[in-house]
Amino acid sequence: MALVMSAFITTFLGVGPAMALGAALANQGNTSVLPECVQACSHLASIFGPDAYSLGNANVTLWDAKQQATHSACWVQPSSTEDVSTILGVIINTSCRFAVKGGGHARDPDDSVSAGGVTIDMQKMRSVEVPPDQKTAKVGSGHVLLSLYEALEKYNLTTLGGRVADVGLGGYILGGGFSHLSPKYGLAMDNVFEYELVLPNATVAIVNQESHPDLYFALRGGMNNFGIVTHFTMRVVRQGQMLGGVRAYTADKRDAILKQAYELTTSWKNDTNMAFFYSYGYHQERDDFTLAVNQEYYLPVLSPAPFKQLNRIPFEHSTVRLDQTSRLSIESASATPPGGRNLFATVTYSPSVDLDRQIQDIMAQEIQSLKKAPGFYPNLVIQPLYEAAIRAGKERGGNAAVALLTVLWGNAEDDERMNAFAQEWVERSTATTKDAGKHHPWLYINYASKAQDPFLSYGEANLQRLRRIQMEVDPQGVFTSDGLCRGYFKL
Ligand SMILES: Cc1cc2nc3c(=O)[nH]c(=O)nc-3n(C[C@H](O)[C@H](O)[C@H](O)COP(=O)(O)OP(=O)(O)OC[C@H]3O[C@@H](n4cnc5c(N)ncnc54)[C@H](O)[C@@H]3O)c2cc1C
Repeated sequence: MALVMSAFITTFLGVGPAMALGAALANQGNTSVLPECVQACSHLASIFGPDAYSLGNANVTLWDAKQQATHSACWVQPSSTEDVSTILGVIINTSCRFAVKGGGHARDPDDSVSAGGVTIDMQKMRSVEVPPDQKTAKVGSGHVLLSLYEALEKYNLTTLGGRVADVGLGGYILGGGFSHLSPKYGLAMDNVFEYELVLPNATVAIVNQESHPDLYFALRGGMNNFGIVTHFTMRVVRQGQMLGGVRAYTADKRDAILKQAYELTTSWKNDTNMAFFYSYGYHQERDDFTLAVNQEYYLPVLSPAPFKQLNRIPFEHSTVRLDQTSRLSIESASATPPGGRNLFATVTYSPSVDLDRQIQDIMAQEIQSLKKAPGFYPNLVIQPLYEAAIRAGKERGGNAAVALLTVLWGNAEDDERMNAFAQEWVERSTATTKDAGKHHPWLYINYASKAQDPFLSYGEANLQRLRRIQMEVDPQGVFTSDGLCRGYFKL
């Protein structure tokens, strides 16, 4: 064991003696290693051997360049719930900072890659257990959506996954989870029946409505504030091929698309086989906007009734087809490759053609001075908050449209003005939806910017309840903003 430990320290430091650690590591990449984590990493290496390593982000998918450039003292890849419990025990004993990485699609340092501490990378935890009734599956929290879809497709089953292959199940489902099945069943989090959770004191809890009603409530949207989830037991449903794909349109089709989006959100809401979202994006190379509509239909029908009018609008190109969910998710991933600098921001409002247009126009006005920024690509995605999701989570309120502003750019020097742009868009769009009497308070945590406070949007009573539950399960504050796991959104 001593040998493994010393080999680890040597690799970890790039130097021999452990005494020189702090200084040698002080400037590794753009993050200093926290001294208390040197001890934690040595201990983890002695237990986990090559599954605890210091080479940074090798063989790991991280979507955003800001997280890719974040260096941890070490990484560790647990294979079981017991491993996660052991790791958390070591981390707490050494008071080392840490982050938990699912699919790595968060956008800021410390969200899921620890800045100078330990990154717990869940990618080895990809089990799938399907009981004989095939109504639920117990799945490891380290799945990305593609690995989960592929595993379930062997049984002709699927689940409430999202659209993009390499997004992690962990972050997606702990925040909410918009799926092509959401019109039928609600958000993904509304379809988790049981969680296996490593609590902030490193013990393991099986959390369901009966065993821990408070924690069960808290985990549905509570993100990384209550411990580390190792397994989800969630709904699965039968699925063969479905309709999916995207159709792209030139800017002159905007009025027609806006009208169809409104019709799909309101008049067709009772056809719960249908889901869709659409986007309005600026393209630097053509100095113009384009629109794209993603069609989804649970059944293998090529032109189902809800999309008939939409399909009459002439398009530039289309990938709409019948296919497996897994393959559709690979297509979506190819449209959102990793590597750029990104931010998300969101507003929610009652469905309205005028408001869709106005918040798109706000984006168009606010980008004027940014158009030449290298790699700049702002895109506004709008999708319904489905009634099934509203029924399942009453706190989310009435019928709504959820807008997600995504901004992609290339250079770190532009970070500040990109953040300012997103904030300006949020403020003006929020004011516009309020003026129209159609503002909806809910902010989807997985679409929110760091300047927004999605937990506040859950409502005062829910927020107080979440904070009380956190005090009970985490009296030391390990998962709080002053604790050891500080990234993403804190209560
Ligand atoms: C290209 C792209 C496509 C997307 N498509 C969709 C979509 O179709 N529908 C939708 O609803 N959302 C979508 N999102 C948003 C997505 O759900 C969130 O970004 C989500 O948080 C990503 O999860 P992750 O595991 O990949 O990220 P990570 O960065 O690994 O994790 C995000 C947060 O969750 C925490 N976390 C992860 N796993 C665990 C765990 N097991 N226990 C405790 N905490 C954990 C992390 O610590 C981190 O704070 C998309 C995002 C991107 C970038």
